[in-house]
Amino acid sequence: MTRLVTFADGTTVPALGQGTWEIGDDPARRDAEQQALARGLDLGLTLIDTAELYGDGRSERLVGEVIAGRRDEVFLVSKVRPENASEMKMMLSCERSLERLGTDRLDLYLLHWEGRVPLEETVAAFQELVDEGMIARWGVSNLDLATMRRLEALDDGDLCAANQLLYNLGSRGVEFDLLPWMQARDMPMMAYSPLGRGGLLEHPLIVDIANRHDASPAQVALAAVLRHDGVIAIPKASSVEHVEANADALDVQFDAEDLERLDHAFPPPTHETPLDII
Ligand code: NDP
Repeated sequence: MTRLVTFADGTTVPALGQGTWEIGDDPARRDAEQQALARGLDLGLTLIDTAELYGDGRSERLVGEVIAGRRDEVFLVSKVRPENASEMKMMLSCERSLERLGTDRLDLYLLHWEGRVPLEETVAAFQELVDEGMIARWGVSNLDLATMRRLEALDDGDLCAANQLLYNLGSRGVEFDLLPWMQARDMPMMAYSPLGRGGLLEHPLIVDIANRHDASPAQVALAAVLRHDGVIAIPKASSVEHVEANADALDVQFDAEDLERLDHAFPPPTHETPLDII
């Protein structure tokens, strides 16, 4: 099953994408990682998330090899390090990312987290890249609700297209206020570490629900975040077997009993909580 998520500008992307943190780091695993990403594209997981930070550019380089000749199939997301998110440095950072990725444009460029550069300067630098045609749109990552409100109030701050956040069954705080705030603005939430970096996959309840649905624990963990509107999940898989399993996550349809048991084991937030980050 395919589900689409729509950005405020009307652009649609598949709700299930692919993460690439730590991909490209181990030369012995590169072939398998490339095959996994390419298989993901074949299966419609065409949003790929990377960052200049990952392996100091190694992840972007590997992604560039995978998308060579297939660029138009891909919704390509990369991130700028906070210390490079200034008017002086961002253009060079973006040029280097584009070079490693073998392309002339990003579909989405994110501020990886807030650092010392004032947000207004970062927004102005992003807008310059939009004007130059180097990025189609920009967004942020790891920004809490108070910071999103501050961003929205800045000149052009309301053009922020997405916020990428830690979101999985074990980390549901964003459901209380930040996710509804973003949904009200058609601003997709990119859920990072949706499998809890693999840590959720042995949880007895997740295993049990997976067995009931003839599914895998990873599919259950992904289906749990994808049942909310406006959420894009970006699991990282470095084998064809894993990416094929993830691609079927939307086939898992929870019934009321599953949802009750999940809420019991992983309670939804009842009050504002500080943003979880990795
Ligand atoms: P995930 O929650 O995606 O978990 C990845 C782990 O799950 C890996 O060990 C992987 O193993 C395993 N896995 C994947 N699919 C399956 C499957 N079907 N069955 C069993 N195990 C599976 O962790 P990440 O932290 O990598 O998060 C995903 C992405 O989010 C990152 O890669 C990155 O792109 C982004 N991210 C962004 C952050 C930010 O600050 N903006 C911070 C952290 C992540 P294997 O590799 O062997 O397939």
